[in-house]
Amino acid sequence: MTDTSVTPEATVKQGRPVTRLVDLRIVVDPPMASTYWRRTEEQRIRELEVWARELEEFVRDHRSQDPVSLTVERVTETVCDQCSRKWETYTEDGVTYCAGCGVQAGES
Ligand SMILES: [Zn+2]
Repeated sequence: MTDTSVTPEATVKQGRPVTRLVDLRIVVDPPMASTYWRRTEEQRIRELEVWARELEEFVRDHRSQDPVSLTVERVTETVCDQCSRKWETYTEDGVTYCAGCGVQAGES
């Protein structure tokens, strides 16, 4: 015998961390990376900027034989699936909540 008038167990609204893609970038590793330790940070930045201009020229005339490595890099962030803010939590009386919207944190 089943009593259908009984309310199903109360469901507390919960939030979960979800990882979402926020950007895709192409990462280029120039062939002279192994010599970086000899230079100052400013010199390295300037050197990379020069190399980037040269790579642009290479793409235009595509005659260079230098090995260039291109990688697609995923930029992700973990957010609350309820409020979409960065996933940060706080705990009160042993219960963990989303710091963004205050819903109880469920198991991820
Ligand atoms: Zn939230």
